[in-house]
Formats: sequence, structure tokens, C-alpha cells
Amino acid sequence: MAKRDYYEVLGVSKNATEDEIKKAYRTLAKKYHPDVSKEENAAEKFKEVQEAYEVLSDPVKREQYDQFGHQGANFGSGFGSAFDGFNFGGFGGFEDILSSMFGGGSTRSTKRSNRGADLRTRITITFEEAAFGVEKELQINKYDTCSTCSGLGAESKNDVSVCPNCRGRGRVIIEQNTFFGRVQTETTCSTCNGSGEIIKNKCKSCGGEGRVKKLSKIRVKIPSGIDDGQGFKLTGHGEAGVKGGPRGDLYVSVTVKPHEIFIRDGLDIILELPITFTQAALGDNVEVPTLTGNVNLKIPAGTQTGTKFKLSNKGIHNERTGRTGHQYVIVNVVTPTKLTNEQKELFKKIAKTDLKQDSVFDKIKKFFKN
Ligand SMILES: [Zn+2]
Ligand SMILES: [Zn+2]
Repeated sequence: MAKRDYYEVLGVSKNATEDEIKKAYRTLAKKYHPDVSKEENAAEKFKEVQEAYEVLSDPVKREQYDQFGHQGANFGSGFGSAFDGFNFGGFGGFEDILSSMFGGGSTRSTKRSNRGADLRTRITITFEEAAFGVEKELQINKYDTCSTCSGLGAESKNDVSVCPNCRGRGRVIIEQNTFFGRVQTETTCSTCNGSGEIIKNKCKSCGGEGRVKKLSKIRVKIPSGIDDGQGFKLTGHGEAGVKGGPRGDLYVSVTVKPHEIFIRDGLDIILELPITFTQAALGDNVEVPTLTGNVNLKIPAGTQTGTKFKLSNKGIHNERTGRTGHQYVIVNVVTPTKLTNEQKELFKKIAKTDLKQDSVFDKIKKFFKN
């Protein structure tokens, strides 16, 4: 079965605001929640709604989805090791919303996630860096594993014991009277705050959290061919989890600065080249800049303004697809604004011969005579 459009799933427009998306999600999540819904295929619909929300509520994922559809949601896939596709795991935001809907409960049966938060950052690179690929250092202020206790949160292993209230699960089942009737839900264990363990002597460096905020430097290789607005995911480079929990991911959006003379169109490069009247009329050999140096271009006699010349394989090479674009040179015949007296005389001489040659001008002249 074809995957439905995420906007259609949530019943919102493509321009929906974050609030509208959130509101639509809440309404539909209530409608299809498997614990309470009497709708047919409620569980599947709930999952579909969940997935749509997961993408549309995240500005980065939404941007990718808008650009590339369902495949785009597979954020930056194929960009090599640093560009792993993301999966739909870790419904952080989703759980938050369920928590608010069900008074702190959630239907997730797992221990409260101690996974570190995903982070987002933006990096600006030059046109050439995008074209040839570049290695960059990102500096991110984030929670990282505490080096004193290696993420344990305690002074020693002997200080950690299993929580007696939840027996290490981190969650306990409670029954609640809710808007939907009597619902059995799981909630975070209040004795251990969801960690499933009790610490006798907390690590003094991190206060028992197993992580501390510090500036981290990450070296990242950006492959050639990346375009403005694209991004990638650095798996495990988000924040460290609480007490050695799994690390979050880092999403990097790339801004590519425009070039002074080149315009980028996918992997192709467009260059507008001004030429003179005489070069256009008589033809010429001109030097044309490309990303890899100047090349010779033959302008044939009688070239019109707007004529497009193709320089094969002189565009951008995309490392991950192996494709290479072309460079297109669009000539622009520049009308001179300042003429010397001698040039004026020469143009006047040409003008006397001009209109007789050109049938289009003849037609126009005739049209006005009639
Ligand atoms: Zn520590
Ligand atoms: Zn507990």
C-alpha cells in the first residue's frame, strides 16, 4: 500500500504552523489511541499519525520531507558513514505529548528513556567547499559523559542498587480515571525517577547524572555535492544520556554561501558571460572560468544574446551518487553605453547596412507602413 502524505494523515495544509500540527496530532492521537479507540484499525492509524507527527513536528525532518517526500524523511541517507539515515526510533516528543495527555502516563512499556537529547546545528560552507567536499570542526556545548565516573553517576559501583519500588524497571503501572474512562497506564517510578536504580553516594563531579555540560569538538567530513538546505545526521553525537544512557544524535543543516559569479542548479553550474557586440557578430575565442580553472570557449560569429553553451562535466561532482554536472555558459551581449566619436561613426556606417539585411526588421517596418 502506498504511504499516505503526512500532511494528509494529520489533515493539515502544507503551510500549517507548528501549533496547528500539534493540535491536529493531539486530536487524532486521542481518536485512535489503541487503549480507548473503537475505530477500525485504530492501532495502525495511531501509528500512522504518530509517524506523520514525528516528521512534521521536527523542522529539519519536515524540511527534508517537503523537499523529497517520504524518501526525504530518510534524512541525508547515503551520505556515507557520517550521513546515516535516521529511523523512527526514540519518540521523545511523542512521549512528552502522551504524558501531558494522560497525566504523566504513557503506553510505552519500556523503562523511561534515559537517552540523551538529539541536537541540531547549522553549518555554513562556501560554494567551493560544497562543490569539492570539506572537513569541518563543529563546536557544540552539550552534555557529555562525566569523565570522573564514566557515566555511572556514583562514586563506585557498590553505591548503585536496584530500585525496590519498580524492581529496576523505572516505571510502575497505575490505574487512572481519565477523560476516556478507566485507563491503565504506566508512569515513571517516583522513587528512582525512572532510572531503575538508587545511588547511595553520588559522583561529585556530575551530581549523580553521569554527564556534565561541556564544549565538544566534532570533526566532520562533508562530501562533495551537498547543496544548500540539505543536511545530515551524526549518529551518537547528540547529548550523552543520563547515567550512561544511549547518546542522542546530532542533526546538521548545511547552508551554502552563494558564489560571486557562479549560480548553482543541482549539480550544474550556470555562468552568465558578458560579451561585446563585435564578439557576438564576428565570433571570438574567450577564456571562461570554471571551478577547476579557465577553459577556452569558441563563440561563433552571429551569436545571439541568451545563447547557452555547454561545458560537459565541468559542473559539481557528487561523491555519493558518482554523478557530475555540467557548466552552462549563457552569453549576454552588452550594449555599449559610452562610445568614442570614431566608434559612433563606425556604428552609423553599420546602421546604414543593418536593416536591409534583416527580414524581421523589414516585416516590422512594413507593418507600420500599412
Ligand atoms: Zn560523574
Ligand atoms: Zn524505581
